[in-house]
Amino acid sequence: MSADVVIVGGGIAGCATAYYLGQHGLQALIVERDGIGAHASGLAYGGVNPLSGAGIPGPMHPLAQKAFALHATLGRELDVGYRRRATVQVAFTAEETQELATQVRWMNTQAGFQAQLLRAEQVRDIDARLSPDIVAALVLQGTAEVDAALLTQALATASGAQIRKAEATGLVRDGDRVCGVRAGGETIACAFVVLAQGPWLGDVRLLGKRIDVAPLKGEILRLKASGAPVEQSIGWAGNYLTTKPDGLLWAGTTEQEAGFDAVPSAAAKRTILHRVRRMLPGLSGLEVQRHTACLRPMAADGLALLGAAANAANVYVAAGGGRKGILYAPAMGEIIASLMVGGETDIDIAPYALGRFGW
Ligand SMILES: Cc1cc2nc3c(=O)[nH]c(=O)nc-3n(C[C@H](O)[C@H](O)[C@H](O)COP(=O)(O)OP(=O)(O)OC[C@H]3O[C@@H](n4cnc5c(N)ncnc54)[C@H](O)[C@@H]3O)c2cc1C
Repeated sequence: MSADVVIVGGGIAGCATAYYLGQHGLQALIVERDGIGAHASGLAYGGVNPLSGAGIPGPMHPLAQKAFALHATLGRELDVGYRRRATVQVAFTAEETQELATQVRWMNTQAGFQAQLLRAEQVRDIDARLSPDIVAALVLQGTAEVDAALLTQALATASGAQIRKAEATGLVRDGDRVCGVRAGGETIACAFVVLAQGPWLGDVRLLGKRIDVAPLKGEILRLKASGAPVEQSIGWAGNYLTTKPDGLLWAGTTEQEAGFDAVPSAAAKRTILHRVRRMLPGLSGLEVQRHTACLRPMAADGLALLGAAANAANVYVAAGGGRKGILYAPAMGEIIASLMVGGETDIDIAPYALGRFGW
């Protein structure tokens, strides 16, 4: 078995890399243990907002901007549920309102977006079911959402990559290069390797050295609700909800350091339902249809892990998407493909280099 490039991991980072390699005429083979999009990439909420989150504004912003533009193109090229969806952040206290006011000022400096801070008496114009305790709301126009599972699968299919359902257990070295990947009892010969194992990137069997990535568990409820759909993505303190094209209200999420445990928990279900009712007490007929849990790949400093591995000349890493890995994936994939083919990228990826962890 052989391929130009072996990609370890069939989450969105690996599949996006395969897609952009395919555009450069390189044939990829994805080694995936559990199925394309079987983990966070197939279960995420799918919000695509480049103007908030860890490192934004800051070192993650250039990657977020690039990724956001690529999502719009992918939305035209692939049928992946891409749609523009306004993002609303609500505030229950004066302190939270102050924080939103700071964000509005910065957001309005960004081309293509429009942010507005609504006062208490205007908030229920957004949705009459919002809590009367909300004192302000930031409405951001210009953000988007995708169906993360559909997008991951579509990228894999459109890439033309071969898929090998197996666990990668080691790399075969030839001097300072890697010439093959051991998976499912055989060796797949290749010219390049991309490690895109999400939270499992820390597996020392592949690179021989630990990378500081850890899983951060998050849970989502898909709810049946009576009444009109929720037309925006409404959030507060890390929680958010919206009505998806499947007609269900998706609500999340929790954050828990629980190792590789990805089993939905009764405690998370209670927490999410409590927060949904806190934001929109006017929602009625709530019934849980599906409850999922999955793991975000978090680098110790919250930034992406992107670029060449230091101890092997032809190995690249695309991981560390954290809370925003669906947003970042197209940019990660495009950057890895450009590095492999031409040795350069159009944005500075130094902040994401593995060297910061002593690599
Ligand atoms: C509850 C929740 C909600 C989220 N919502 C959003 C959102 O709205 N917007 C957003 O941008 N992001 C969101 N995220 C984050 C996003 O889902 C992740 O950052 C992203 O899916 C990570 O993609 P990945 O490809 O790096 O990892 P994964 O999806 O974890 O894929 C890694 C794959 O590698 C495979 N693998 C690992 N090791 C091996 C091996 N040795 N051999 C073979 N296969 C292997 C695994 O089986 C897995 O399929 C959310 C995350 C959570 C948990």
